[in-house]
Formats: sequence, C-alpha cells, structure tokens
Amino acid sequence: MILTRKIKLVIVSENQNEGYQLIRNEIREQHKALNLAYNHLYFEHNAIQKLKQNDEDYKKKCSKLQEQVNKKYEEYQKAKDTQKKEKLRDTYNKKKEELYKFEKERNEEARKAYQQVVGFTQQTRIRNLINRECNLMSDTKDGITSKVTQDYKNDCKAGLLYGKRSLRNYRKDNPLLVRGRSLKFYKENEDYFIKWNKGIVFKCILHIRKKNIAELKSVLENVLLNTYKVCDSSISFDNKEMILNLSLNIPDKETQDYIPGRIVGVDLGIKIPAYVSLSDKVYVRKGIGSIDDFLRVRTQMQERRRRLQKSLAAVKGGKGREKKLKALERLKEKEANFVKTYNHFLSTQIVTFAMKNQAGQINMEFLEFDKMKNKSLLRNWSYYQLQTMIEYKAKREGIVVRYVDAYHTSQTCSKCGHYEEGQRNTQEKFVCKNCDFEVNADYNASQNIAKSTSYISDSTESEYHKQKQKVLEDVEKEKNIINEQLSLFDK
Ligand SMILES: [Zn+2]
Repeated sequence: MILTRKIKLVIVSENQNEGYQLIRNEIREQHKALNLAYNHLYFEHNAIQKLKQNDEDYKKKCSKLQEQVNKKYEEYQKAKDTQKKEKLRDTYNKKKEELYKFEKERNEEARKAYQQVVGFTQQTRIRNLINRECNLMSDTKDGITSKVTQDYKNDCKAGLLYGKRSLRNYRKDNPLLVRGRSLKFYKENEDYFIKWNKGIVFKCILHIRKKNIAELKSVLENVLLNTYKVCDSSISFDNKEMILNLSLNIPDKETQDYIPGRIVGVDLGIKIPAYVSLSDKVYVRKGIGSIDDFLRVRTQMQERRRRLQKSLAAVKGGKGREKKLKALERLKEKEANFVKTYNHFLSTQIVTFAMKNQAGQINMEFLEFDKMKNKSLLRNWSYYQLQTMIEYKAKREGIVVRYVDAYHTSQTCSKCGHYEEGQRNTQEKFVCKNCDFEVNADYNASQNIAKSTSYISDSTESEYHKQKQKVLEDVEKEKNIINEQLSLFDK
C-alpha cells in the first residue's frame, strides 16, 4: 500500500543557493519536457492509425466486418420471440468481438511497421526527444518517461481517443519528479536529513503542523529501519517553501481486526449528503455533512466573485485591473475546487466510520447516470467523484467497496422488508405500511444498502433496467396483437 506525506525541506549543504536555483530550473525544464513527451505519444498514435488506414486490404476487411455487425444487430433488434432474441444477441456480440479482435491485430501490426521505420522502442524515442529539447538530470528524465506513459494510458482509458477527454496540459508548477532510490535518509542528533543528487543535502523540517510531528517522526523512523520503502516522489514549492511529497510503500495492513460479515451501508442523499449505518448493529448510525452548510459557503463564494466581476467592469486598465483579474482567477479556482474539497471531507468521514466500527466492507448504490442527475439537484455536484474517493481511501485501509442495485432501496422497510410506494412520507421520514416501523428515511435506505446482496457492476444488471426493458417489450407485444386484430378486421 502507498502512503504519502508532505515534509518541508531546506537545503543545508554548502551549495545552498545553487541548489535552490537548480531545482527551480529543473521544474521549468521538466514542464517543457512533460508537454513535449505527452504530445509526442498522441502524435505517434495518429501516425500509426494513418499507416493502418492506408492499407487497402485492411479497409476492405474492416468495412465488410462492420457491415456484418450492423446486420446482426438489426436481426437481433427485429426478433420478437424472447428465446430467439437471446440467441441473436449472442451472435451479434460474437461478431462484434471478431471486429474488435481484428482491429486489435491490425493495430499491433501497424505499430510494428511504424517501429521499423522510425527505429528504437517508444521509451527510447521519448527519451531522445527530451534529450534533444531539454536540459535535465537523468533522474528527472526517467521520471518524466514513466509519468507521461502512465498519464497517457490513463487518459486513453478515460476516452481520450474518442473525444471524451482532451489532451493533457501540464502545469508550469508541476512538482519535480524525484526517484525514490536517490533520496538517502539519515539521522543526526534527533534531526532527519536527506542526501540527494549533485551533493545537495536537505534537512527535514517537521514542526510546521505541530500535531503531526509525532506521526511524521514515526514514519521517518520506519524509513530508516527500511520497513517503509521510499518510492518515486516529488518536490514542489508552496509560497517559497520547499515541500517533499514523499511517497512510501508500506506493508499491507492485517485485515483480521475487521469483524466478519459487518458491512457499512452508505446512502447518498440531498439534504444529508451521506448517511451511514452498520448491517449488524441498529443503533450505530451517522449522518455525514449537511447541504445547508455546503450551500451557504458556496453562495458566499459566488457573491464574492460577482462583486469582484462588477468592480472589474468599472476599472479600465492598469495595475489595479491586473490585480483584480488575478484575484478573480483564484476565486474561480477555489470555487471549482470546493466540491472536490467537500467530497474529500465526506469520503474521509465515511471510511473512518468503517474503520472505527471494524467493518471490512462498504456497500454503496450503483447510481445510473440519469438517476444520478436526478439525485444531484446541485449544479457541479459529483457523486461519481465522491464514490471514486471512497473507493481509493477504503482500499488503502484494506476495506472492500461493493455496489448494490439501487432498486427500491428507499421504498422498502428495513425492518420487515415490506415494499410499497409512498412509504417515504417526507424527505426525512419513513413509515412502514405493514409493521408501522417509523424511522429516519436516510437511515432506512442505508440499512437496506448495508444488508443488500444484489451486487451489480453494470447498469444493465439492475432491476430498474430490467423492468424498464420488460415494459418496453410488453408495449411491443400489445402493439403486435392490436395490429393483428386490425389486419383481421381489414379482411
Ligand atoms: Zn415494516
């Protein structure tokens, strides 16, 4: 598991001034290199695609396969008999798979052909480009190559090549990438030092945030003992302070201290952003966050921005305007980050709740996009981001996150299991029409989620989706019967 800690650094070796200068230069050159390398990867992708598409044989085979896929899809869509329909869907999926495999093979061939023309491996090509254009330490070059390759891969997964995401632009103050193996920690009279490249020695300053000192010391002791392995990290400047973003590989936690079978159910809502409870203990529950606080702070920010924009319109030019423009930029950024900050707060609270109660699993609803939109009445609110944060924070603690079908979770009684529409009287109250159980509605939903075993990983598996599908099919059937009757009538 990876652990990160921020540590303030000062250079204490004789080459202090040159040292700071060197790091700032390196950050500047690295910014150039990151953008160059990233753009290079995208350019190479396009060149390879071009190579593939110039091949007549490929074009012919590809359009033929595509035609077949379309035909199979049409047949599947037209079929009425359920059994037959299922079979046709299988053949359609198989054809689609075939096309996918074909594309993959041809991509591989084109990549090989490209490699033969330009020579070297992709890694070396990036390296050569950086060597030519930028003046960097060899460690930084290594860091750039692996970072850019990884970033590019992630962006492709997120849909870069299908226009779902635009090309990445690295910031000017992107932290300097440093290799873990180049950071050599040692201790002298209660102080911690790090020997780095070019004879630079850093001293670790631990007393910035007082309450963290003990924790940081224990982390550094573990580094010295080699129980924590130093990974590739980075150095950044924060208001002229130099900060090491130290990344450590620490041994996985024992998961034995979790109580078997205990699950946390998380209900994401509007008034209370997250409500948590346990599957096996009725009285442990908690509402996390409040939408009123959230809205108040956000409105304050928006008002400040509006005032600034107004006063900007009155100023014609000069230094004053420039200053105000900068302030406006900062404010906008803060506003955009606010949701993220709030999601960080919520996710930390949820995972802490699970840990405190020794639950090794967290259940959440699988939210479909349209339902998500429905639930998030607030502009810019991102449940998806929140769920992603919960997932990675839970993983760090050895807690599993699973998604359950959201079908009926808020309309079913968590005590007797009775389902009926209209049991959620108000936003806050749930009253069971079978057993008269009266309870906080968010708590009721979180209980259903905690106890649910209908795990799903795709929206098409949800009961909601199946029901919708069934209604559509029924309508289709009815239409056919009516048509048949009408045709009899015509005769
Ligand atoms: Zn009931």
